Amino acid sequence: MEETIVGHTALKAGIDIALYDILGKDAGLPVYQLLGGASNSIKTDITISIGEPEQMATEAQQYVSSGFSQLKVKAGIDPHADEQAIQAILNTVTPTTEIKVDANQGWTAKQTIAIMEKFKGTNLDAVEQPLPYWQHEQNKLIRQSITQNLMLDESVHSPSDAMTAIKNGEADLINIKLMKSKGIFGAEGINKIAESAGLNCMIGCMAETSIGICAAVHFAAAHSNVAYCDLDSFMMFKQPKWLLDKGFTQEQDRLQLSDKPGLGINVNF
Ligand SMILES: [Mg+2]
Repeated sequence: MEETIVGHTALKAGIDIALYDILGKDAGLPVYQLLGGASNSIKTDITISIGEPEQMATEAQQYVSSGFSQLKVKAGIDPHADEQAIQAILNTVTPTTEIKVDANQGWTAKQTIAIMEKFKGTNLDAVEQPLPYWQHEQNKLIRQSITQNLMLDESVHSPSDAMTAIKNGEADLINIKLMKSKGIFGAEGINKIAESAGLNCMIGCMAETSIGICAAVHFAAAHSNVAYCDLDSFMMFKQPKWLLDKGFTQEQDRLQLSDKPGLGINVNF
């Protein structure tokens, strides 16, 4: 179907999510059940922002001590500093902590291969979007040269992007974000294509509040092919308790959905 309004994917996601909430309420089902209902809870990682390597390592250890077992380390400004930060984190956190590095389109293929070679055999198990989103050809070369998984984020916004990337052998994992995919409907398409090709997905976030995150938790919980969740943005917001019942509860790294119909969110106007 040709779109009359191009872009504005986050705005479209808001409408899509509201429609899934209505569909769920109409059917008397929580959205995760409406979508197939593999589970009603998920485990999320937590993001370590770029800073001084020692400070990043301290922050990482604090999160691990408070119950997180998966970390996403932001990188991509200075490959040398990124390497130091990854090393400092690996030296500091519990050995079972799973680590992914998100280079946010900031590395070259050569830098990516060298950095991942350095951390071969460690708990750093994936690199996310090292190259600019439009640089497709070298992703295949990276995959052939590293032992860790290559995850695409900015290169995949839609089911057709996912189809192209997978056909060209560019990815081991795809990071789906509802704000890129225009909501749950687009995310379903990306995940189905990935699953058919034997690839797992991560569901990530931009800077959504708990409403957007709740929709993403429903989507992730419904699909066993969504192997990883990076749904931590709501933790950065101050949220007055009286405003809304956010549809899920958090215990350490686990987000547990309510079994109320739709998203399960109550807004107290
Ligand atoms: Mg990313």
